[in-house]
Amino acid sequence: DGVIEIRDLTKRYGRTTAVDRLTLTVRPGQVTGFLGPNGAGKSTTLRLVLGLHRPTAGTALVDGAPFTDRPRGLRHVGALLDAGDVHGGRSARAHLRALARSNGIARSRVDEVLHEVGLAEVAGRRVGGFSLGMRQRLGIAAALLGDPPVLLFDEPFNGLDPEGVRWVRGLFRRLAAEGRTVLVSSHLMSEMEQTAEHLVVIGRGELIADENLAQFAARS
Ligand code: ADP
Ligand code: ADP
Repeated sequence: DGVIEIRDLTKRYGRTTAVDRLTLTVRPGQVTGFLGPNGAGKSTTLRLVLGLHRPTAGTALVDGAPFTDRPRGLRHVGALLDAGDVHGGRSARAHLRALARSNGIARSRVDEVLHEVGLAEVAGRRVGGFSLGMRQRLGIAAALLGDPPVLLFDEPFNGLDPEGVRWVRGLFRRLAAEGRTVLVSSHLMSEMEQTAEHLVVIGRGELIADENLAQFAARS
């Protein structure tokens, strides 16, 4: 359970090839780092896995099926995509309650995840007043809401202070130790070093490396 299989995946926007014949498998039980410079195609790949974009060619499967139909929604795959992109007028709690409702998740999970990400005390405040770090925590709470076996985090370290970075690293390792699939994108190798066990590196949409972090570090 929780295997992501990407086969010959390609996504073009006009003349830009954002993802170029990407093939890789992401497995449960470890943190997989997804490394590449800005514009490498990381977000596009994660969005294709989530079925938020249609591939130009190839497939992205989660547990053998495209995620497009979202049969289990947030109870299958949870994702932090663009933390800045949250409706600012609602409170953190109201935001998560709406997500819980539309995904058939028990309302009691909302306060659990708010506590887990350290936002319990600001749960009633408007998200519009949140710092980027607080928005990242809220996005992580949304990803955790459905207790999913598969978790995707796009640039989760952005805006976090050093304490927040330590916290999120521990969280990712714990989620992986629970047997979940944890895929974390970043443009900084330094963020991966104490986070990921496995590393997938892409550049210009193409796969550059797919190996154990220690192996990668030994070569570069
Ligand atoms: P990363 O997440 O690694 O920074 P992206 O997946 O965001 O990379 O972008 C990969 C490439 O695709 C970039 O050249 C980007 O400009 C382009 N791109 C991404 N989304 C769109 C879009 N909606 N329309 C046009 N070009 C896009
Ligand atoms: P709206 O913003 O229109 O209320 P939602 O936020 O409920 O829409 O999201 C629409 C769909 O996207 C839902 O079926 C939900 O499962 C999915 N979705 C929303 N946020 C996430 C997320 N963080 N991770 C994975 N899927 C998500």
